[in-house]
Amino acid sequence: MRITLCFDYDSPAGYRESFRMRDTDPWADYKGTEALLKVLADYSVPATFAVVGEAVLAGTIPVHCPEQVREIHAAGHEVASHSMHHKFIPPMSYSELMQDATDSRRVLEDCIGAPVTGFVPPFNRPMHFPRRFAPSVSEMLGLHRRGFGKQSIPSMLAALREAGFLWSRVSFSDKLHRTLELTGLARPHRPEQPFLESGVLAIPANVMGFGDAARTLVRALIHTDLLVTLCAHPNQAHCDNDENIDRLDSLLSELKPARESGLVTFQRMCDAVTRRAASEVVFR
Ligand SMILES: [Zn+2]
Repeated sequence: MRITLCFDYDSPAGYRESFRMRDTDPWADYKGTEALLKVLADYSVPATFAVVGEAVLAGTIPVHCPEQVREIHAAGHEVASHSMHHKFIPPMSYSELMQDATDSRRVLEDCIGAPVTGFVPPFNRPMHFPRRFAPSVSEMLGLHRRGFGKQSIPSMLAALREAGFLWSRVSFSDKLHRTLELTGLARPHRPEQPFLESGVLAIPANVMGFGDAARTLVRALIHTDLLVTLCAHPNQAHCDNDENIDRLDSLLSELKPARESGLVTFQRMCDAVTRRAASEVVFR
């Protein structure tokens, strides 16, 4: 099986925009990332860090951390975009979204001196995806108090393609399958796999953190060729929850023999694009 670790580097710009993070220690992402880089290096595991563009602008740490983002890149990890200002995407117009995504790609590429091809939407939204039986009534009706929803997953991906991105993490819940599952008419879902949508590779977020849910899923799928995407935040690395760095350390330790025997491979999000591009003649 293949595993991708995907970290959302929110930075204080992200805490400012988030629903419940205004009191977060401004150093949380900086210190969490320092610790994560050590653990990832100990196990030689590559990962993806999706960074808010504002965090790499010139200024003082911990609000602006371009040096640390260069360090992430120099360690062999992927630097992706987590938008420019961590704004809530659903109520954005197409041009607002294009502008935000393009700005973030430009500042991140200027920072690391290499292409940035991936985008992780703040708040994992939009989740609205009617064709996959995943309507989001709360986004459509503006129940998040940030305006009526204008974007869906396909429309966001179309804008990202225009802005030059090749992959995006997505999050949605197929309510039809879930209902069939609960009534016993369908088998439990395998984790959603990457798929092409609006010309961009959509990579579903499968599990948050490295706790029991991640462990159970990985153990169940270890002999398959599936991709499992585990997500976390550097700012939670020292908190007592599934994103805690000791739980990551323990999972990586458990998987060491499976990695050595070739059963498990760790890859960055962008590696899924290469794989799809190689197996499908026309990707872009
Ligand atoms: Zn975020």
